[in-house]
Amino acid sequence: MINSFPRVRFAPSPTGYLHVGGLRTALYNFLFAKKNNGKFILRIEDTDRNRFVEGAAEQLLQTMKQVGLVYDEGPDQPGEYGPYVQSERLEIYKQHVQTLVENGQAYHCFCTPERLQELKEEQQRNKLPQAKYDKHCLHLTKDEINENLANNVPHVIRLNVKPGNTISFDDMIRGKVDFNSDVVDDQILIKSDGFPTYHLANVIDDHLMKITHVIRGEEWLSSTPKHVLLYNYFGWELPMFSHLPLLLNPDKSKLSKRQGDVAVEDYLAKGYFTEALINFVALLGWNAGDDREFYLLEELVEHFSMERVNKAGAVFNVEKLDWLQGEHLRSRSIEELLPLVKAELEKTKYAAGNWSDDFLSKIIEAMKERIKFVKELFENSSYFFEQPTEYDQKVIDKRWKDDSVELLNKFSAKVESLTSESKEDYERILHETVEESGVGVGRLIHPVRLVLSGVGTGTGIYDLLVILGQKEILERIQLGIAAINKN
Ligand code: GLU
Repeated sequence: MINSFPRVRFAPSPTGYLHVGGLRTALYNFLFAKKNNGKFILRIEDTDRNRFVEGAAEQLLQTMKQVGLVYDEGPDQPGEYGPYVQSERLEIYKQHVQTLVENGQAYHCFCTPERLQELKEEQQRNKLPQAKYDKHCLHLTKDEINENLANNVPHVIRLNVKPGNTISFDDMIRGKVDFNSDVVDDQILIKSDGFPTYHLANVIDDHLMKITHVIRGEEWLSSTPKHVLLYNYFGWELPMFSHLPLLLNPDKSKLSKRQGDVAVEDYLAKGYFTEALINFVALLGWNAGDDREFYLLEELVEHFSMERVNKAGAVFNVEKLDWLQGEHLRSRSIEELLPLVKAELEKTKYAAGNWSDDFLSKIIEAMKERIKFVKELFENSSYFFEQPTEYDQKVIDKRWKDDSVELLNKFSAKVESLTSESKEDYERILHETVEESGVGVGRLIHPVRLVLSGVGTGTGIYDLLVILGQKEILERIQLGIAAINKN
């Protein structure tokens, strides 16, 4: 149990879309906060001007809202508030870094890109495990520094990492983590354009926003020693860290854009429900210790715990997402699905038709167990909305027999004489027809399905009959017989 109320944050650098890994990070932060009566904060980390994408922050806010991960506070409270935005806080970072410079914990560096490149090449030639800055500018005199600054020589400010130390921190997923400071580079804190790097702004904000738990992806683990040093230099208390397992492709390589969709927006556009996506990403690195896989967001809040997050990479398995999508679709009532079906219908060529809610509800009821996406109703089951124009030849070859026309005509006559139309009515007359002719029921069911739908599989035959109704059935039987007999 967490003693005090935690304050956590999701701190994306907006790229124009929300990565599924980002969604997982946001979700775990959200769940952790809600479970422990804490606060979930959203902070836009947009200090990398080279990566600036117009409209990206707005897109991100919209997606966060859409998936239901609502943040709890912002700089403009009370009332309508946006998230915290780093580019609006530049003065704060500048002031703080000044203290580090005065204390010798950070220093100005005037090295040119050419010198840094040469240094890197030399280190590579000497087979050093990683390129590191050689602290050249740490040894400049005060006068040299002041003269350079007075002459506006381009410069950065670097973190002064002292070699030979162990840097330690606690991680809720990994336990105690130690780094040797020899492997930590003198990280740039302020870039030559005057903007802070992620490392500086992130640590200052986490402190000022009183973040108690930093929950983020494993890819940030190697940056954490730099952050820990900054906390130490500023004299601030460390937050508790959690580095979430990497997301992997099924071949165990790191999940990348090249191998498939990684943008949450793309999944939503394909028709996945936000609940299914949330459920799916929740299981990427966490389980409740039992076999349960289906969760709604509020159920995740109830069951989630950081102790049950794994260290091992989590495989992003789209088949599982699809399965969950089907489960979430099925968990919704017909009344809940109806507006979605109508919205999807608007996008199809059947939009102009006059379809009653009752008709659409019957289709949903008949198809709910057989589909994963609402759009499948229109893509794979168009026969509800239009008469077939083609009849599957394979089904004809297999199912159309010498007596098919005769059986269909007999059935047709019984349909015509029906005074009520329930599934039972259709079942009764279908059985009567085959019994009178002394054949098995399959002999009629397959031709009926074929003339009504043009295909060999789909919804239950009695559902299909009830949904289409007397008049339409009679028409389709004659149309089908004429078209198939021509072949
Ligand atoms: N801005 C970083 C990102 O884009 C935040 C990492 C962190 O949570 O510290 O993921």
